[in-house]
Amino acid sequence: MNSAALTSHDRLFAGGAFQPTLSDGRAAGTIHFSGAQLRFESEAGEVVLPLTGLQLALGGASDGLIFFTHPSLPQTTVHTADHAILDHPAILGTPPLAAQRAQIRTKKRVGTAWLLSVAGALVLAVVALVLSRSWFVKMAAAAVPVSFEISAGDRLFEQMMTSKKVVKNAEIDAQLKRITDPLLAGISDRRYPFTFSIIDDPALNAFALPGGHVVLHTGLLLAADRADEVAGVLAHEIAHVTGRHGIRNIIASAGLYLALSAVVGDASGLLAALADNSAFLLDRKFTRDFEREADNVGWDYLVSGGIDPAGMVSFFETMEREEQKELEKMPMGGVAKALEIVSSHPATRERIARLKDKLHTRGPAAEQDKITLDYTAFKATVRASLHSPDSHPAKQ
Ligand SMILES: [Zn+2]
Repeated sequence: MNSAALTSHDRLFAGGAFQPTLSDGRAAGTIHFSGAQLRFESEAGEVVLPLTGLQLALGGASDGLIFFTHPSLPQTTVHTADHAILDHPAILGTPPLAAQRAQIRTKKRVGTAWLLSVAGALVLAVVALVLSRSWFVKMAAAAVPVSFEISAGDRLFEQMMTSKKVVKNAEIDAQLKRITDPLLAGISDRRYPFTFSIIDDPALNAFALPGGHVVLHTGLLLAADRADEVAGVLAHEIAHVTGRHGIRNIIASAGLYLALSAVVGDASGLLAALADNSAFLLDRKFTRDFEREADNVGWDYLVSGGIDPAGMVSFFETMEREEQKELEKMPMGGVAKALEIVSSHPATRERIARLKDKLHTRGPAAEQDKITLDYTAFKATVRASLHSPDSHPAKQ
C-alpha cells in the first residue's frame, strides 16, 4: 500500500513488546490498531491486546515511553516512544482509553513543570553558591548597553560642571593632550569616547564618570612632579570606566532580582532602576577589588602606550604624603574627619607596596617615554590660569 492510503486509522507506530512467546521474550516491531485490538507485529511474532480493558501508562527515562498492558495477559507489555499514538482515533474514540490518555497528559505536564522548577532552583543555587557575587554583577552589567552609560555620564557631567570652575584654556588643553594622546593610543578598548576636563579645585583629586568623562583637579596637576605621574592617575581612572565600575557598583546595590533578570535577558527593570538612581554613579567609593583592578588594567594601558608605569607608583606616594599632611593639619576636634579620611583611603600604603613589587618584577622598561611635555612649564601655565578670566564657573 502506498503512504497516501495510510489513513490515521491504519497508521503504524514503531514500538516494542515483551511476551514469553516471542523469541528472546522481546521484540522490536510496529504497532497498529485493527478493529477492537491493538496489534504489535514483528519478525519474532505477533502480540494482540484487546482495546476493552487496555491499560495505558507512562514509563522509562523521563516518562518517554507509553506502555500498553491488559489484565488478561499479565506477562505481556507493548510500548512505544511515539506519543502521537495517544492521538490515534482508536484511543480518542474509546472513552476509557481517552480518559486514561487525559490522565497521562496531565501527569506529563506536571512532570515537565516540576522538572523545570527544579532546574531553575538548581541554576539559582549555582549562581548564589558557586559563582561569586562579583561575577554575577559583571554579567548583569553586560546587559547594560554602553550607549546607556555614555548618555547617563553625559547628563551627570553637565549637571556637575554647572557648579564647578572649569579651566578653559587652549594652551593647557594642547599640553594635556601630550599626555592623553599616547595614553589613549595604548588602549584597545574603543567603546568609550574619552574627554578630559580640568577644574579649578585645590583638592588633590581626579575622577571619571561612567561613559568616559575624566576630570582632573588643578590641585592634582600642581601636586604632581612629572607627566607620567598624571598619566598614571589618568590610566587608573580610565580603567574604572572600561571596567564599568560605576555601573557595577549600582548593580551590586540594585538587588538580586533586577540583576538576575538582566542576566537571563530582561534588562528593562535594571535599566529603569539605573535611570532612577543615576546620581549614584557619582559615588566614587569603589571596593578594593575595583581599585586593584583599575591599578592593574591602568598599568597595562601605560605599558602599551609606551609610558613608564613608575609614574603611577610615584604619584600614589605623593598622595599618601598629602593625606598625611592633611591629618597633621587637623585640629584636635577634627578626629572624626581624620578617621573618615583614613577609612576612605585604607589601602594607599598596601597599594603602593603592591605596585612597587610589580615595578620590580616587570620586564625591561619601555625604550622611550612617549610623553613629550615639559611638565614644569605645564604647571606654570596651569598656575597662571588660576584666578585668571579663563577660569570661571561654567554657565549651563
Ligand atoms: Zn580608583
